[in-house]
Amino acid sequence: MGSQIHHTLHVEIIPDSGQLIATDTLQLSKATQTFQFLLHANLSPELNSTEGSLTLIRTLPGRVPVKQYHLQLKAPAKHFSLRYKGEIVHALSNEGESASLRQSTPGKIASQGVFLGASSFWYPHSDAELISFTMQVKLPKGWLSVSQGSQLPDGSGWEELQPQEEIYLIAAPYNRFQLDATGTLAEVYLRDNNLNLANRYLQATENYLALYEKLIGPYPYSKFSLVENFWESGYGMPSFTLLGPRVIQLPFIINTSYPHEILHNWWGNGVYTDVSSGNWSEGLTTYLADHLIKEQQGEGSNYRRNSLQNYASYVTEQDDFPLIEFRGNQGQISQSIGYGKTLMLFHMLRKELGDELFVDGIRSLYKNYKFRRAGFNQIQERFEAVSNRSLELFFNQWLKRTGAPALKLIDVSYRPSTNGNKLTVSIEQTQPEAPFSLKIPLFISGEGYNATEWHTLDMTERNQTWIINTSLTPVSLAVDPLFDLFRRLDDSEIPSSLSQLFGAKKVFAILPDATTDSMKQAYQSLIAQWQQRQPGLTLLWDNEINALPKQEHIWVIGERNRFTNQVHQRLKDRDIDLTTGTKAITLRNPNQQSQTIGYIESDSIEAIKGLTRKLPHYGKYSYVLFNGEQPQVEQRGEWRISHNTMSWILTSNHSGITGQLTDYRALID
Ligand SMILES: [Zn+2]
Repeated sequence: MGSQIHHTLHVEIIPDSGQLIATDTLQLSKATQTFQFLLHANLSPELNSTEGSLTLIRTLPGRVPVKQYHLQLKAPAKHFSLRYKGEIVHALSNEGESASLRQSTPGKIASQGVFLGASSFWYPHSDAELISFTMQVKLPKGWLSVSQGSQLPDGSGWEELQPQEEIYLIAAPYNRFQLDATGTLAEVYLRDNNLNLANRYLQATENYLALYEKLIGPYPYSKFSLVENFWESGYGMPSFTLLGPRVIQLPFIINTSYPHEILHNWWGNGVYTDVSSGNWSEGLTTYLADHLIKEQQGEGSNYRRNSLQNYASYVTEQDDFPLIEFRGNQGQISQSIGYGKTLMLFHMLRKELGDELFVDGIRSLYKNYKFRRAGFNQIQERFEAVSNRSLELFFNQWLKRTGAPALKLIDVSYRPSTNGNKLTVSIEQTQPEAPFSLKIPLFISGEGYNATEWHTLDMTERNQTWIINTSLTPVSLAVDPLFDLFRRLDDSEIPSSLSQLFGAKKVFAILPDATTDSMKQAYQSLIAQWQQRQPGLTLLWDNEINALPKQEHIWVIGERNRFTNQVHQRLKDRDIDLTTGTKAITLRNPNQQSQTIGYIESDSIEAIKGLTRKLPHYGKYSYVLFNGEQPQVEQRGEWRISHNTMSWILTSNHSGITGQLTDYRALID
């Protein structure tokens, strides 16, 4: 671990020519006579010849060409200054899967705006573990800059003295809006003078900062800014977030991505992530932002079910990897594990320890590792310290193993008795891997108003039977009905969804031969686009096959498809409007629960083009109905599950109201 370096930067930005002119005075913790650093290959650095000399060691090619320099000082010194200038203009490129709108650049100075960070090598990088900075920025008239930390008192730049991983410099012709109600400055930087939008974000910022300060500990920076980017992005930087112009306008962002990015100031940009033992910060941030907000709305179990559903849809045995290998989001598979499985790890930890110790644990993690790196080892150690118990087995199992337990309710019987009612329950773990050690929640609903009980079944073997004493006259029971365990869901617990089709290794798309040529072409190009990111998607024509494939997931496409009748039959009793212009509907094959059938139909060639890009974003839904040529979403939803193999009805001849299953109280009310 290198020592900390302070950079004192003077930067001038010339947007039209993509250039920066800078001097950087590096302040080291110890005097030295030699120093090595990396800098963008375009930025030829100079050192005052009275101070010493600079030698180029080598050029490292790559998306950002970088030069490595050796600096030799005439006498040992704790600081020295470098001057450099040049152009940093890297084009935007698409990020991740093609259906995603996200783009990225390692660095760009342009007339629309400036984006510079560690990936741009715009300041000298050494082996210093963490850095701090004071930066003055000269910009064209009307432009404003944003970086980490606080604005300098005269408004000429930025300063952050707490250890940072990198230095950002964002700039554009912005309108700035500010609010300081609670001691932390909330700011919004927009291209348009949109006061309404700014006020919504300023208020939300204050609310979320207050929420997380109460839950975790004091916010680590002096301000938080929402900054409009000049391309579509969703970045969380220390003390600001850089969101794309369209993203900012979406009404749901303020309750989804926005609190997530704010919370990253505690996890990721407050406590830094030691990714070498697994990136934990995405999962913990998702758990305490996205999940917590749903939990406050009584939708926590739904959120967890969706997350487990993604794991079931996207992660096959071959693709699975242990959490300690998660570095960052690379698409659906890594997201289902790195975000989804990690958030379930924290949820199970909370169930195991109880809310109070869980909150003590996250506070202790923050307090002890603020502006330092922590890995899962340090997290385990903090939770062990607050709970005074070993969590070795728990962390080992969820961090180092792949796979997930799959549970099956084998048998249930009930015996009334004068010395207490006895309920016998047998469960099997059916996954191919060795049994997991689990604490399985069991919900019993009995005769009478609100007669319910929760039990916890300790399971370590592949097959286990428990005899449970209950005061109820049981009517029904359910195994893990609120989805508190990380497990591979049974097909019967998951409504059919588009993600099952988009996530499958092998899918057939059956196209109608008896339709117009232009319609055929539109459907064909839809499939061709999807094949780019799903090579296992195979196109078939309906006149070339006698029956629908029986095992693999299938798309039946077009109203004039020979197989459309079969789908329409099964949709008769569903509560959706089949007269809309464009629809995408999924169903389970009733004779083969593991097979999902997707149905797509549209009367507009334009709408099919739009569907190509839009539909993959609606993976969690069972159906999406569209209108118009855009097409606009009219209705979307998930089928309700009425019965699944993880629940059991004991009697049917009871009268009266039985207990209702509701979500738990949220972590913060
Ligand atoms: Zn995140």
